[in-house]
Amino acid sequence: MTTPKQSTNSDGTIDRRAFVGGGARMVGAVAFVGLGGVFAARRGRDEELVWQIDPNKCVACSQCETHCVLDESAVKAVQCFALCGYCDECTGYFRAEEYQLDTAVQNHLCPTGAVVRKFVETRPGIRYFEYTIDEPKCIGCAKCVEGCGLMNGSLYLQVRHDRCLDCNECAIAVACPADAFVRLPRAEPNLLKDAAKEAMQTLARKKAQRSGQVVDDDTDGDDTAGEGVDPA
Ligand code: SF4
Ligand code: SF4
Ligand code: SF4
Repeated sequence: MTTPKQSTNSDGTIDRRAFVGGGARMVGAVAFVGLGGVFAARRGRDEELVWQIDPNKCVACSQCETHCVLDESAVKAVQCFALCGYCDECTGYFRAEEYQLDTAVQNHLCPTGAVVRKFVETRPGIRYFEYTIDEPKCIGCAKCVEGCGLMNGSLYLQVRHDRCLDCNECAIAVACPADAFVRLPRAEPNLLKDAAKEAMQTLARKKAQRSGQVVDDDTDGDDTAGEGVDPA
């Protein structure tokens, strides 16, 4: 980069105003180049390919727990509230064998107690419960996903990108019997089940109708997007 040409006064000293202006232009140019670099780096990062799970294909085979190169899998279970039935007898929470309708550990389907059951309300004689994932405890074994699949299928697996190493050849993708692992740009939202998308759009429409707003049907794949308790 060239230095700005210096203007001199008639006595040979440097014209301060011109010097400051030239300096400011150079700083501006440096800042512009710097910002351009930041935007280019961000765009490059957004376009980087990362691994995602297509929950429409996943058959909850349990290889996500055992095949990740990390000691504790980068794959975790997530909840789509818009799809959840808030069931009292949640098949993603309770073991298939005989169990009591309470939170005692012997009743849990999840081997690590990562599915959390919380009472919400009783409506005409029916009790509703909210189920969330205590993510640090989740090992990605997919037992809850398989169990929940017998009912609404609101629990599903996602690759957590704050944990995943983005291996060129993902060991789970190689082992996955359903070809559910796909490479997508980092900026793409997490893939949702088709049923989850529909449920979220229906919920958004209902909310908008209540408040008289127009609805954007573009669900963003964020597992927290189906917020709120709406067992109706
Ligand atoms: S390996 Fe594939 S099918 Fe098995 S749980 Fe993981 S994503 Fe689902
Ligand atoms: S059952 Fe497995 S996948 Fe589901 S929350 Fe527990 S550890 Fe995670
Ligand atoms: S890319 Fe590597 S770290 Fe990420 S899920 Fe696959 S095996 Fe695990």
